[in-house]
Amino acid sequence: MTDELFREDATLQRCEAHITALDAAGIELDRTVFYPLGGGQAGDAGVLRLDDGSEVRIVDTRKGTQPGAIVHVPAPESDLSRLQLGQRVIAQIDWQRRHRHMRFHTATHLLCALVPHPVDGCSITADYARLDFHMNEPLDKAVLTDGIARLVAAAHPVRHRWISEDELDANPGLVRSMSVQPPRGLGRVRVLEIEGIDLQPCGGTHVANSAEVGAVVVTKIEKKSAMTRRVVLGFADPA
Ligand SMILES: [Zn+2]
Repeated sequence: MTDELFREDATLQRCEAHITALDAAGIELDRTVFYPLGGGQAGDAGVLRLDDGSEVRIVDTRKGTQPGAIVHVPAPESDLSRLQLGQRVIAQIDWQRRHRHMRFHTATHLLCALVPHPVDGCSITADYARLDFHMNEPLDKAVLTDGIARLVAAAHPVRHRWISEDELDANPGLVRSMSVQPPRGLGRVRVLEIEGIDLQPCGGTHVANSAEVGAVVVTKIEKKSAMTRRVVLGFADPA
């Protein structure tokens, strides 16, 4: 079980940690700032820095086979012979890449507020985000781009809190996603709230205020099936 520091503070860029498992799949730590692929959001990349100053490059982060395990996937060329169980490392994420995930992820919540239909797919990367809505009405690119810009400009605070599973069950409308149900069995569920805009279970990483999303545009709207409309987001300034 890895202590998931990113769940409480998405702005943490590094932490000290100790190696708890090591195999062909990758490296597990007792605690980490690396977000594992999940809820549509890409896994983090970065480095593990060793006491001798050398680094192991991490190209992806995945959930492990054991519940609560997080696997840091090393670059293929990595020499892992220097690593051993219990060893101290500094885990540091590629912050530039992660911050783009956070901006896009928060933008998808803004989009949910503009399109009041269930979500049946989601993908968030550093270069684009896409959200599939279960609906057959047409959507307009310019209208949605303007809508997002309005919510970004209004600088709404973004925060997470934990609610009980009973509270979630009493409010089924909170679950917007048809494909991703919140993890159960832990007694509590993390919900993400953009004040006055959106409230739904979400375990991902987000910026602290909608203003931090910046200039995001709808680059494409696709009819994926009779009942699926896909909305693709990009940054207005792709650099
Ligand atoms: Zn989210």
